[in-house]
Amino acid sequence: MLHTITSLPFDNTYVRLPELLFSGVTPARVSRPHVVSFNADAAALIDLDPAEATRADLAEYLSGNQLIPGSQPIAAVYSGHQFGVYVPQLGDGRAILLGEVRNSRGEKWDIQLKGAGQTPYSRMGDGRAVLRSTIREYLCSEAMHHLGIPTTRALAIVGTPDAVHRETVETGAILTRLAPSHIRFGTFEFLCHTGKHGELRVLADHTVNHHFPHLREEERRVARMFREVVVSTARLIAKWQAAGWAHGVMNTDNMSVHGITLDYGPFGFMDAFNPGFIPNHSDPMGRYAFDQQPSIGFWNLRCFAAALLPLMTREEAMEGLDAYQPAFLEHFNDLMRSKLGLRQSLAGDRELAVDLLALMHADGADHTNTFRELATVEMGRDRQAMRDAFRDREAFDAWATRYCQRLQAEGSADEERRSAMNAVNPKYVLRNYLVQTAIERAQRGDFSEVDRLLDLLRRPFDEQLEMEAYAAPPPDWGRHLVVSCSS
Ligand code: AMP
Ligand code: MG
Repeated sequence: MLHTITSLPFDNTYVRLPELLFSGVTPARVSRPHVVSFNADAAALIDLDPAEATRADLAEYLSGNQLIPGSQPIAAVYSGHQFGVYVPQLGDGRAILLGEVRNSRGEKWDIQLKGAGQTPYSRMGDGRAVLRSTIREYLCSEAMHHLGIPTTRALAIVGTPDAVHRETVETGAILTRLAPSHIRFGTFEFLCHTGKHGELRVLADHTVNHHFPHLREEERRVARMFREVVVSTARLIAKWQAAGWAHGVMNTDNMSVHGITLDYGPFGFMDAFNPGFIPNHSDPMGRYAFDQQPSIGFWNLRCFAAALLPLMTREEAMEGLDAYQPAFLEHFNDLMRSKLGLRQSLAGDRELAVDLLALMHADGADHTNTFRELATVEMGRDRQAMRDAFRDREAFDAWATRYCQRLQAEGSADEERRSAMNAVNPKYVLRNYLVQTAIERAQRGDFSEVDRLLDLLRRPFDEQLEMEAYAAPPPDWGRHLVVSCSS
């Protein structure tokens, strides 16, 4: 059964947790809210009727001006390690959790309004989000989902003419975000480091009961949950690495216990492959550079483990952490093998992938397009088109000869391999210059490019002939766009 925005079946459980974990809040009013974009795919997650997109007062509800019946708005507290330094208190400074909706498949989804005004955890912030950063999160989270990368989802963007001051004056917007929960490593860190070990136990039990229900009856359920988070985080980061994507701000408060991508800020898909890629202008040391992500994931999990030590033994923590590297490597190697179109796992596959990446780096080859074009290589045939993409053609030829030998070793068939590869190597990703164009048009009141990109990125693996231009590497102006932390 489909619901209207006023008949969503809320089942709010977070508000039943110990009071020190959240504060009741009321979204602050905005003037003239209007729907910038509405995502029917995400609406389906909460059985929301897609026809609600055109409902006259939808923006009133998704701005927080009107409360959705059944919601119990709160801001959650958490802490976390930011750039390696423990910050004792953070929290939803501008995000408001309206509540949790259970869908007809029995799944529970948090509905959160991001940019809905100040909360007790706003510190110096204004509680607002700008249209620019909201479009970035909206499009990227959906792009990630359709690439098969676990993530929070985005239901809608509501804009307002209200001014929001960042480096310049911009306009505000509110993102409606959906997630299984917004429980972060930092939520546990907050309770551990304030010595609230009883409440820590309650939060852990809540997390297991609602989100790891298969562990409910386990005696060592916290240790088992931790191990599952280790593995899902390792697999998530393997997917980021294979997609050429960097999060930009992998602080422990931005790490979800669900192993999903959370809190999109100055993220980026790489154009030219560069392992040292730093998407965040405010990270000059490259703590969160692309090639640091796997080890930062581990570092963050160690912080999470430390926060759970009142509930599990040191041995259990170590055992859990020991699962990280094998889980990461196994998944990453599988992903790279499938990106190369290899069905079997043979000795030397890792070197083959690593050597291609080294060539791409040396040559500044486009990450997305190089893998996509690799599917056009035919064994024993001319590889001119592909070869022309590389400046160092001899080096590419030498690699391609090895690649073709490897394909022959498993009796690969060109046609079959091509369709398998095209199902894992996207044609379209949310390149920075594409989202920048959509933002600039939206800032002038034309939201069509946001919807066009949303539609394009729903089918990233399909050839969409009329959209060919969107697969192009960035033009000169779009190559080194600076993405700041400000949002
Ligand atoms: P982020 O880097 O976006 O994950 O944010 C880090 C912390 O700052 C979180 O606790 C946010 O809620 C908070 N924050 C970020 N921007 C604002 C803002 N404009 N107003 C209030 N709090 C904010
Ligand atoms: Mg955050």
